Order: sequence, then C-alpha cells, then structure tokens
Amino acid sequence: MTLSTPVVGMAGGGQLARMTQQAAIALGVPLRVLAGAPDDSAAQAVADVRVGDDRALADLRAFAEGCDVVTFDHEHVPGDHIRDLEASGTPCRPGSAALAHAQDKLVMRERLSALGAPCPAYAPLPADGAVPALEAFARDHGLPVVLKAVRGGYDGKGVWVLDALGDAAAALVADLLGQGLDLMVEEHVAFRRELAALVARSPYGQGAAYPIVETVQENGICTEVIAPAPGLSDDAAVEAQNLALGIADALGVVGLLAVELFETAAGPVVNELAMRPHNSGHWTIEGSRTSQFEQHLRAVLDLPLGSTAPTAPVTVMANVLGGDDPDVYSRYIHVMAHDPAVKVHFYGKDVRPGRKIGHVTALGDDLAEVRERARHAADYLRWGPAMKPENEENA
Ligand code: ADP
Repeated sequence: MTLSTPVVGMAGGGQLARMTQQAAIALGVPLRVLAGAPDDSAAQAVADVRVGDDRALADLRAFAEGCDVVTFDHEHVPGDHIRDLEASGTPCRPGSAALAHAQDKLVMRERLSALGAPCPAYAPLPADGAVPALEAFARDHGLPVVLKAVRGGYDGKGVWVLDALGDAAAALVADLLGQGLDLMVEEHVAFRRELAALVARSPYGQGAAYPIVETVQENGICTEVIAPAPGLSDDAAVEAQNLALGIADALGVVGLLAVELFETAAGPVVNELAMRPHNSGHWTIEGSRTSQFEQHLRAVLDLPLGSTAPTAPVTVMANVLGGDDPDVYSRYIHVMAHDPAVKVHFYGKDVRPGRKIGHVTALGDDLAEVRERARHAADYLRWGPAMKPENEENA
C-alpha cells in the first residue's frame, strides 16, 4: 500500500514551527522544517530538519524537494524565492502574491486602503526627499507621527514614534536610510487598546474565525493576550471577524491570517497583517477546540477547518520573557505547585533579558482571577522568588 499522507514543509525554525510540530504529531502529518541552525527552537523538536538559510534560493529549493506544500514560520523569505518555488510546481501557502502584504507594510497599506479597509493615513518616504515628505505629512496629520521600516520589522523593531520633528528626527531618518531601509510614515492612531483577529482560509475557500482577543503590548512586545477581548460587544467582535475574513478572501490568503487592530471610537483600524500562526493565537492551544497550529496545517492541506469554539469563558496567555537568571526550569516547581492548572510552554531558546522564551496559559471563569494566575506564572518564570524588580517596566 502506498502511503499518501502529504509532507508539509515549514521555512523557519522558530517557536511557531516548534508548536506546529506538536499539532502535526496528532494529525500524523510529517512536518519538515528548514532551520537556520541545529539548535533552533523547532530543530530541537522536529525529526525531519534541514539546516540552511531560508533566504537562500538553493537551500529553499533543496528543502522544498519532496514537500507537498510549503508554508512559513515568519515573513522574511524573499518573495522572488517563493515565486521560484511556485514556478517549479511546489504549492506555497500562503502564496507569494498574498504574502507580499505581510512582508511589505506599504504594499499592505496601499491594497487595504484600495479595498476600503480602515487604515491609518500613511505616506511613503522617498530616499531622496524623506525629511520634507515627513514634514509635509506631519503638517497634514499632526504630531506625533509613526515612522516605520517598510520591511523586516518585528516586535516593535522598525517602528519609531516621533513626538517632534527637527534635527533628531532628521538624523534618525538619515541613519535608517543609510542602513538601506525603505521608510514610510503613519498617522499616530489614538487607540483605546489593541485587538487581534485571527482567521483561517483554505484553498477550497472555507473560512473560520477565532474570537477577537485583546493584546497587551509593552515596549513593542506583546506580553499578554486575553480571549475573548473583555467588554467587546458582539457587534464589534463580528465586525472585526468579518473584516479579517474579508481581507483573507480579497488577498487570497491560504492558512492563518492574523490582523492586528487598533480599537478606536470610530471602530477597528488595521495595524498590520501576519500570515502564519501568531503570538495572539497561542491561547488557542488550550483555549479553543482547535489550536491555531492545527488550523494552519488543516488550511494549508486543504482539509476542512476545525471548530474555533472556546473551551472556557476566559483564557489568558502571558508571554514569558527572559530575565537575568537563565535557569527557568528550576522555577517550574513553584509555578506548577502554586497552580496546577496553569500550562507552561517553553521554546528551548537561549535565555536573554527581554527575549520571548515561552508562554503560559490560564483558563477559567473570572477575568481578574485568570489574568492574575497567568501574570504570576509568567513573572515567576522570569524573575524567580524575587519577582519583578521595582524599576523593571517590561515584565
Ligand atoms: P512590528 O512589525 O514590529 O510588530 P507594528 O507595526 O505592529 O510593528 O507596531 C508595533 C507597535 O507600535 C504596535 O503594536 C502599536 O503599539 C504601535 N504602533 C504601530 N503603528 C502605530 C500607529 N500608526 N499609531 C499608533 N501606534 C502604532
């Protein structure tokens, strides 16, 4: 008998590929990962690892050989390389045309604005006139403005809020242009809070939407996700879900689409897009009938999508950031004894101060209580018995 289970290739060996492996095990789907190094987060957990550079065409081609479908754990694989794989007959999901909108913030803004999706005002900053263009934008839209690298940003790297223009801003722009970055500027949105809409879309055209979540960011890093977003009306939740499903459809996304949103008095405003499992969806491992990782596999394999029904009234995910002491494991004993129902996820990454190294999830009925349980576990894993130092903001 010939086995017909397809092989899914995931380019990138980070924690998203690692957690996708967990879902692939249950489905019995072979996952192959292209990791940058043998000790990458996913490379430690996946049997079929290819070590190589996912930005190098030769490595990508060798990796894709024998994969039935290729997907991604980040958005940094060059679009030309993805087009090359597509031209040679390897289905890439999401495809290069859709993925461009998660790789390039200007392409995303132009397309979403054309589709009528709510976005902040924006403008490209041409290299040969960036400062005058920035000044003209600030005259029209007021200060502060948000300067962004068009490509390559993550976790707030590549985003600068400018409260004033002048020599310092001009020097920053000159420095960034000197690094070869393309720049754009956006209006600073006065948002109430940040939300995220996570949806999946299959090649067949099926869509599935998770409950809208609130994401709490500190210093550009997501520290906490609350599902569902507290106090969000049913109408507002459906509006945000439909916005994300509409974007997935219009862009032809296959797999997951996370739409990061600003909640404003006038409704949701799109911040950015990710076409892969997303930090705002880690809560689904325990908090939903179908985890985002399983859902991504189902979607890229064109299988029927799984139920997104929540398993508890409230789920809170808190990211664990690295502290000064790398011995996180020694702190498991307290966290697990203190609260046997908290789930700990550790990504096998080197511990560096402020780096995302894992997450914890708590479920329950009472928002304040569930939040406190998740917060306590994440803080303890980071800091140990001393807990959060007085002067540390970014716990
Ligand atoms: P990254 O690609 O690094 O994740 P984002 O574009 O998501 O960067 O921006 C990071 C954070 O900066 C957002 O979560 C938000 O808090 C803030 N931010 C980004 N764009 C704006 C904006 N136009 N107005 C106000 N805040 C913004």
